[in-house]
Amino acid sequence: MEKCAKHQDDIKYIILEQNSVKLACPECRDEKLEQGLQLEKFILIQKVLKLPEVLLSKIDIDMPFKNFFSNIVKITNEDLNNFKIEWIKQMSDIKDSIEKLINETNNYFEILSNLLSSYRIELKKIIKFEIFEQYIQANINNENFNQQTSAIIQKTRHEINTQIELKIQEYINQMIKGNNDEIKKNIEEQIKDYKNKVINLKIPSSKEILDQLKSGIEGFQKAISEKSHQVNPFYIKCSNLLTNTNFQDILFRIKQQQNPNNQIIYQGSKDGFQTTTFWNKIQNKSNLLMIMKTKNSQCTFGGYSPCQWIKSPQPQFMSDDQAISFLFIQFPNLQLQIYPIKNDCKHEAIFVNQNLGPQFGKNDLQLFAEFKEGNINIGQHYFRDPKENLQTFILGPKLTEIMECEIFQL
Ligand SMILES: [Zn+2]
Repeated sequence: MEKCAKHQDDIKYIILEQNSVKLACPECRDEKLEQGLQLEKFILIQKVLKLPEVLLSKIDIDMPFKNFFSNIVKITNEDLNNFKIEWIKQMSDIKDSIEKLINETNNYFEILSNLLSSYRIELKKIIKFEIFEQYIQANINNENFNQQTSAIIQKTRHEINTQIELKIQEYINQMIKGNNDEIKKNIEEQIKDYKNKVINLKIPSSKEILDQLKSGIEGFQKAISEKSHQVNPFYIKCSNLLTNTNFQDILFRIKQQQNPNNQIIYQGSKDGFQTTTFWNKIQNKSNLLMIMKTKNSQCTFGGYSPCQWIKSPQPQFMSDDQAISFLFIQFPNLQLQIYPIKNDCKHEAIFVNQNLGPQFGKNDLQLFAEFKEGNINIGQHYFRDPKENLQTFILGPKLTEIMECEIFQL
């Protein structure tokens, strides 16, 4: 790049000023920063050449574009590739371990099978099993004689069988308790030897793989869905009350990002705070995200519930069977705190009453007629960590002068 005329340093930035653009070196940049120009007005030329969204996210175009660009710019092909390599490695390691376990299992049963065979060969030797086998063989031969049923042959066959029976009995007697200590001793040794060999064989273990699986891919689903969300950020009319990041976080939490029909259906400052207007806009709709602000607090607050906002003269609680409703507060330091519905209170997630404003839980968050006033007292049906410092809870419990309420149908 050309050098800066003022400082003779390399031009590295484009500075976006009101209706003018300036090419700048690092020193120009420092000067502008000292003059109080915001950091987001600087564009690093090297970066914008790689990522066109860097330019588009900083110029004054429609907010939904700006949101989309400023989020998608956070991700590069290199990021995706690194992410992919990392997870594929985790899984390959697990695959290797499983292959190792397959081999171990194969070996283990091969050795076991051999041990069993040699044990039986030895056992047969000890009890001179071939003698017994000969007797049985003799019986089989006898059977094969011939099928003629002459009386003589029948008699002979019978005699041969009787002899075989006697010999088998004799063979068994050799081994019966007390008759042959040597056989007994040999059998005992043989059993001991077999048991030792089996016991000393290492049993294949899946424990290592289980541990590896647990530590290795426990976060897989979460990581991959976050990554896919980063690659495909929300393209939605954004909130004027919540910061971009907090708004995105809330939408991500609700996991309705695939729904292309995200839209703002009510905006108090534009549509008016009359209770009837409010109800006409939201009646019988579900999956609503409500974002509010009072005049005298820096906090933004609100709630989300999948429940249907039934407009009815009969006030009633609505049940959120999935227990995914939540309230939230964006504190003045822009930190976002979420207060999920308590599971045992999910049947009373919201309260619908056409004469009042939105009501979440008991009096966790309630706005009265015409949005004039209300209460915020989180901790009844919505969970609030008791450790949360009460001092930081600078909002409520009385709410007055509600200056804005945005309602998104997700
Ligand atoms: Zn310069």
